[in-house]
Amino acid sequence: EAKGRGEGGYERYRPGMEARGAERSKRFAALRTAILEEQLVVFYQPVVTLPEGRTTGAEALVRWQHPTEGLLGPGAFIEDAEQSGLIVALGTHVLRAATREAATWPGEQTVSVNVSARQLREPGFPLLVAAALRDSGLPARRLTVEITESVAVGGGATGENLQGLRDLGVRLSLDDFGTGASTLSLLATCPVHQIKLDRSFVPDGGSDAIADAVAQMARAFGLQSVAEGVETEEQAARLTGLGYDRAQGFLYARPMCAADLRDRLTNETTAPAGQI
Ligand code: C2E
Ligand code: MG
Ligand code: MG
Ligand code: MG
Repeated sequence: EAKGRGEGGYERYRPGMEARGAERSKRFAALRTAILEEQLVVFYQPVVTLPEGRTTGAEALVRWQHPTEGLLGPGAFIEDAEQSGLIVALGTHVLRAATREAATWPGEQTVSVNVSARQLREPGFPLLVAAALRDSGLPARRLTVEITESVAVGGGATGENLQGLRDLGVRLSLDDFGTGASTLSLLATCPVHQIKLDRSFVPDGGSDAIADAVAQMARAFGLQSVAEGVETEEQAARLTGLGYDRAQGFLYARPMCAADLRDRLTNETTAPAGQI
């Protein structure tokens, strides 16, 4: 993000900058329209138990049903959303959609929602979450808020907000664990319920020292451990051996639309174990 910026964080003038600036404004405007006209859709990727592979919930992952470009993943627009500040409106939309959807799921199935550092800085963020829970009827314990280590430098109301979320009974998860720089100090100042090992550390033939260390840390802190980006049976077996509680990845299911997830949950609930 700091790439191409001079000291102080502002961009130094370069020829062609106006054109790029205009293009940027156009993309921001298109994204604003997308949010207002409900072109954003929320997909859900199952989270399963290790080793059984039983679904315990899903992560909400935003997509943009673009009028001309088809279904776009967050890689195509989250950065713009962050830079334009539209991430706050986008995040509210996802939070509302995901809690409403999860309230229809059977039993204690949980939903995880990604929240950006920018959203978490906003004063009153827990009130927004409380309203989403109230309006959807989803119990707080069935909502997990995923944060990344970037919230550690969040400033603003971040600290109070995290405490406010805990007070509501919402669960907190540290996403992309291991990729940030402030992991340990963050765990000390901001207690979470779950840590999510980043995909880049999922054992893949080479050393599994980091995956092992993270699992041990989770146990030491009494936290649930989840591994994301699990693609093979070998990886699942290694993670099970290391003591991971939960897994998420293409091996089990790709992110899917809300209706497909609902079908999957219904079938799993009614099918005898082993037939799923
Ligand atoms: P994330 O929160 O770490 O989500 C996991 C990403 O890994 C998702 O990408 C998912 O599709 C992908 N993934 C899951 N299993 C596998 C696998 O087995 N193999 C591989 N190669 N990939 C796998 P996606 O949906 O493209 O989302 C990317 C990132 O965008 C997310 O990473 C999250 O940081 C962000 N994001 C998504 N939705 C939201 C949102 O509503 N709000 C905010 N603030 N960020 C979001
Ligand atoms: Mg996530
Ligand atoms: Mg992640
Ligand atoms: Mg990740």
